[in-house]
Amino acid sequence: TTADLIDEEHRICVCVRARPLNKKELTMKDLDVITIPSKDVVMVHEPKQKVDLTRYLENQTFRFDYAFDDSTDNDMVYRFTARPLVETIFERGMATCFAYGQTGSGKTHTMGGDFSGKNQDCSKGIYALAARDVFLMLKKPNYKKLDLNVFATFFEIYSGKASDVTNISSTKLRVVLEDGKQQVQVVGLQERDVKCTEDVLKLIEVGNSCRTSGQTSANAHSSRSHAVFQIILRRRGKMHGKFSLIDLAGNERGADTSSADRQTRLEGAEINKSLLALKECIRALGRNKPHTPFRASKLTQVLRDSFIGENSRTCMIATISPGMASCENTLNTLRYANRVKEL
Ligand code: ADP
Ligand code: MG
Repeated sequence: TTADLIDEEHRICVCVRARPLNKKELTMKDLDVITIPSKDVVMVHEPKQKVDLTRYLENQTFRFDYAFDDSTDNDMVYRFTARPLVETIFERGMATCFAYGQTGSGKTHTMGGDFSGKNQDCSKGIYALAARDVFLMLKKPNYKKLDLNVFATFFEIYSGKASDVTNISSTKLRVVLEDGKQQVQVVGLQERDVKCTEDVLKLIEVGNSCRTSGQTSANAHSSRSHAVFQIILRRRGKMHGKFSLIDLAGNERGADTSSADRQTRLEGAEINKSLLALKECIRALGRNKPHTPFRASKLTQVLRDSFIGENSRTCMIATISPGMASCENTLNTLRYANRVKEL
């Protein structure tokens, strides 16, 4: 079977993507401390000070499956990360692709597309690129004869609570763990019937406006929530395969844990917990462990069925900000990404 062909090494792909310095960083005269000397190596030049106060740069090297520099576009990132996973769901498998990194490092740009200007364009994001390829693949004779139907869901997890973002009222969802069967049900989640890439683009637009509407600061909310976009293949109503694409909450939590605001501290703790649980679930997948520690967070609960099964594959895109001011967060991101695959 195809499952036998997926050795542990290929079940998990971990990549890093550096964005260019932005206007604000350039204005502040921040320096780019990242170099990508080859297609799988990232170097961080961390500013340090000796006891005699002379400054120097300490170089730290990390190796990943791929390292994308700031000249790489979404198309290229997609080609080496999520695209190989599209076939997985046609072969009755489960696929997940995560964007992980600090707020402002490029997670949403990578997954959702460009939302920076007035002209929001989600057609260049990995959600849309994956959907496009699903519809293309559907036309191949081998898969056409399976008579598959495509559905999509889009929801977010904010402070441990899940809500559907495919309708304006952002319906609250209930995540139910069925003990006996080790199953998880997301009660209330709408699977939207999608016939073409255009349908998917509309859904992403609705979802993104839901995620940011009514918020005093758009980024404040979205940086603290996990967005989960799923493409589901069904054959005669039965699940055939599922691709979950996830724009994770920002991983920077330093300020939160000492915040005077209780709500902020709780949210920060919840995010920490879910990102740690995620790492453990992916590691379990890579080691082919029979036990997946999915219960520890809402995020890993809703993704449970994607972490089990022999035909499950996952890809993590760690996004990093290149500035010296972000150095500590960048190193944390790279260490986390490293651990995901470490045996
Ligand atoms: P995050 O979702 O991680 O908080 P965003 O995706 O919102 O970060 O990116 C922050 C800003 O940087 C946005 O204005 C985005 O358009 C820009 N940006 C991110 N990645 C890139 C990139 N690879 N190339 C150019 N601009 C980028
Ligand atoms: Mg974002």
